[in-house]
Amino acid sequence: MYELKIHEKHVDKYKKLYPLIFKEAIIGFQMLESSGIEEGTLLKLVNEKGHYVATGYLGRQNKGLGWVLTRNEKEKIDTPFFQRKIYQAIEKRLGLYNNPKTTAFRVFNGEGDGIGGLTIDFFNGNYLINWYSQGIFTFRAQVVEALKKSVEFDAIYEKLRFEGLTSENADGFIIGTPATFPIIIKENGVNLSIFFDEGAMVGLFLDQREVRRTIRFSYAKGKAVLNTFSYTGAFSVFAALGGAKSTTSVDLANRSMEHTQKNFALNNIALENHQILVEDVFHFFKFALKKNLSYDLVILDPPSYAKSKDFTFSAEKDYPSLLAEAIRITRNNGVIVASNNSSTISLDKFKQIIGRGFNEAGARFELLEIHQLPKDFRTHHLYEESNYLKVAFIKVLKS
Ligand code: SAH
Repeated sequence: MYELKIHEKHVDKYKKLYPLIFKEAIIGFQMLESSGIEEGTLLKLVNEKGHYVATGYLGRQNKGLGWVLTRNEKEKIDTPFFQRKIYQAIEKRLGLYNNPKTTAFRVFNGEGDGIGGLTIDFFNGNYLINWYSQGIFTFRAQVVEALKKSVEFDAIYEKLRFEGLTSENADGFIIGTPATFPIIIKENGVNLSIFFDEGAMVGLFLDQREVRRTIRFSYAKGKAVLNTFSYTGAFSVFAALGGAKSTTSVDLANRSMEHTQKNFALNNIALENHQILVEDVFHFFKFALKKNLSYDLVILDPPSYAKSKDFTFSAEKDYPSLLAEAIRITRNNGVIVASNNSSTISLDKFKQIIGRGFNEAGARFELLEIHQLPKDFRTHHLYEESNYLKVAFIKVLKS
């Protein structure tokens, strides 16, 4: 246990269980850095007088130094502790566990469920643990044991989302009966494939569940849909099932072709009105403009940062221009679904970005609806950055 003194002005925050331990809050931050204490060390947060405030752990991420775990000095950070946290998290997802139409969801969402740096997702019998720092990974044995004791499972897998270490098995297998990939899950009755053996992404972004459903039931019918940064084509499949006249999915990655075809096939959708292009989105926009192509519904879900052969994209800087390009090939009264998942861009800031994009394109707009994280992605009410997802449905008004 390492004692960490907190500046008086931040003490109240931690007493209320603010989750992130950040350097400006610490007295003698330099000392901590030079002390050589190891990742995963328990931290006793105390006020300037040395009185106990909270217990956390050292786990460096881009977000901060570590996370608060408890405000109870006597609470031990052991297997039963993790079991209690997991149990509480599961209780809040019973609705999803009992819903046979949706077999993929987040079971444990980091600081929103009381342990920053750790997430656990469920994919039709298989659990996937994501470790976001070396620090949280030092509790691996306890967390895995706690999960084993808490749930029935086919298999438990893991992903190490920090530099330095890699998992023992290429697909992150820990225990149980190994799955064959892709695992087929259901989301609101729609079949989708999941794989753990292709890097950090698993084939589906669970946090967009409500957006996919909304596109299917409220926006797709009879529409020509363009899905940019389409990855495995999940938005396209939902649009097709919602009666879209056509979909065009555009992604730079070769693997997106096969994955998208597979997701269409899993739902018995013939590909004749559904085009899949392996191409740079920025090239595609130029091509579409030149050929006078236009769409009724354009989905824009870029990564926060992307570098391709010809273009670099950073959401913070380039989102307005990207949006402007999308607006130019959207029909009058068409809809753009603009998504952003940077924790550093607040909803207000994202609305400003949208305004700038429309300004740049010389069009007006009407904000139709905004979606944020679904309930299984529990956020921490004191830590705004945990509420990272913003998805705006925007009506494009030209003329
Ligand atoms: N919208 C997707 C997730 C997108 S993930 C979904 O909901 O499932 C980001 C994707 O953007 C990746 O598949 C990546 O290959 C792709 N990508 C990144 N830069 C790109 C570019 N310049 N052109 C096209 N695709 C790009």
